[in-house]
Amino acid sequence: MSNFNWCHGPSCHTSHTQDRIRGVKGSKVLRTKKVQEQTWTRNSFYAYFCSNGCYNDYANKHIEQIRAIAPRTEALETPIEVTKKPYTNSWSGQTTMETRITTVDNG
Ligand SMILES: [Zn+2]
Repeated sequence: MSNFNWCHGPSCHTSHTQDRIRGVKGSKVLRTKKVQEQTWTRNSFYAYFCSNGCYNDYANKHIEQIRAIAPRTEALETPIEVTKKPYTNSWSGQTTMETRITTVDNG
């Protein structure tokens, strides 16, 4: 038994592709694609969308509801340390300053 979801893309059934064609001559339709559930897609959007395009269509159509789930009202920050050290390119011999960003764990 295989588990699947119908693609949640609001326009999935309007894309002109052969794998969406269903029905018999005279009453053919373009049907929303099935998305097979895989172990690696469980609990991710890949289980509900056949493509990034369908995911984008869904997210853009429902952006107000999606934003309301976890609104970002202020910026987040990650503590870091910035160090600069000279780096010499072995091919050209040119020396430039290399910037290295390291995350600081203040926890
Ligand atoms: Zn789709």
